[in-house]
Amino acid sequence: MATFDYDLITIGAGSGGVRATRLAGGYGARTAIVEESRVGGTCVMRGCVPKKLLVYGAHFAEQFEDAMGYGWARSRPDFDWPTLIDNKNRELNRLEGVYERILRENNVELLRGRGRVVDPRTVEVGGKAVTAARILIGTGSWPAMPDIPGIEHVITSNEALDLPDLPRQVVIVGGGYIAVEFAGIFNALGAHVTLIIRAGQILRGFDEDIRETLAAEMQKKGITILREAIVRSVEKHGERYSVRLAGGEELGCGTVMYATGRTPNTRGIGLEEAGVELNSKGAVKVDEWNRSSVDSIYAVGDATDRINLTPVAIAEGRCFAETNFNGNPLTMDYANVPSAVFSQPAVGSCGLTEDQAREQGPIDVYISRFKPMKHTLTGRDEQIMMKLIVDRASDRVVGCHIVGDDGPEIIQGVAIAMKCGATKAQFDATVGIHPSAAEELVTMREKRPEHGK
Ligand code: NDP
Repeated sequence: MATFDYDLITIGAGSGGVRATRLAGGYGARTAIVEESRVGGTCVMRGCVPKKLLVYGAHFAEQFEDAMGYGWARSRPDFDWPTLIDNKNRELNRLEGVYERILRENNVELLRGRGRVVDPRTVEVGGKAVTAARILIGTGSWPAMPDIPGIEHVITSNEALDLPDLPRQVVIVGGGYIAVEFAGIFNALGAHVTLIIRAGQILRGFDEDIRETLAAEMQKKGITILREAIVRSVEKHGERYSVRLAGGEELGCGTVMYATGRTPNTRGIGLEEAGVELNSKGAVKVDEWNRSSVDSIYAVGDATDRINLTPVAIAEGRCFAETNFNGNPLTMDYANVPSAVFSQPAVGSCGLTEDQAREQGPIDVYISRFKPMKHTLTGRDEQIMMKLIVDRASDRVVGCHIVGDDGPEIIQGVAIAMKCGATKAQFDATVGIHPSAAEELVTMREKRPEHGK
């Protein structure tokens, strides 16, 4: 039998790669993980975690205003962006240390440098070839941008998280998760934000009521949304930029940010040369066992472009480690994966959209829109939207969609119920918590009339 330096070499120390490798190491496998940048990957270093810290920071702006309705006199103390960025960076450094410690404690060797697959069992790192029985690709994804004149002047979420100063006037191109989240952060902190989307509405793929409700709430907060608009070029004039649209309009601003999707990080690391098949978007084609077209090479997370969320990458990494290093074959179940958008207000969503559910058979829709109790005293004009989609034949709740600040926290519990196959009757038999927004989910009795849609 051939002997290798390791049982497993993982390329990419992000969410999926770290989970897979540290579990495998914990099960006694000889493991190494290759990382050219910071341990923790996109989610911890350039995505979910720093973004959420900025979202928390941004929330205070409205909270100081809202406090006046509750008798607090002072409305808005000064805000210092560099302090927020410094504190955020200190937390990222701490987390990086935690990740490195977890790897050490599970006997995972950290190999610093860019990893390149040389053949199905060999990876080259910093000019040195190392071999392994299995190679795991966990290289994640990177911001994708259209090739238009002046694209070199724009920033992406990578830079937006580390700007030296708070931008005053921002144009954000794109209408997905990242665009609406950063629009919320910058707007709350006082910037003038214009969102340019090529479609008719933000958040393609989400339930229509989420898309409409969130867009309306964002506009109420002062964000401008330019729909069906195509950017032709970006020009730099000194410290300012002008964004030219296909219709001829021109927008001036101090910062242009692109959030137009992400591309799998799979090029230039020897995958195709080693025989690994990629799809048209560059994602590694894998089977349900995360195995690529080459028997010894596997991939998890954004590099495979399935559901590009950290908890999904982590779950895929766990399935890989359990299957290959713990004698416990596990595959990932992609049904009812909840997701959240940390926009302002936030979104929580699980299961099918109304349109997807209709394609599968007759449904009933329950929808509720109301003013959060908190805002009865603040006077803020904000609405919560909650929606349940019920399969008429089985009475199962097949979709739940929330726009409202606690949406991400609420949806996690609902996702458990949906994973268990809960019916609308079981939702109705659940006692609510009063007064809360979440109780609405167990008290919705009126079906939306069919013609209401
Ligand atoms: P998304 O895929 O969510 O959205 C991309 C947006 O860019 C869409 O609005 C799309 O428009 C638009 N777009 C794409 N190409 C162009 C183009 N050439 N010109 C103009 N607009 C364009 O990508 P994001 O970058 O926002 O996020 C990447 C991924 O990261 C997400 O899919 C998600 O998986 C993950 N993520 C998750 C978060 C969370 O869980 N909270 C937070 C942040 C990211 P159209 O609608 O017309 O296609």
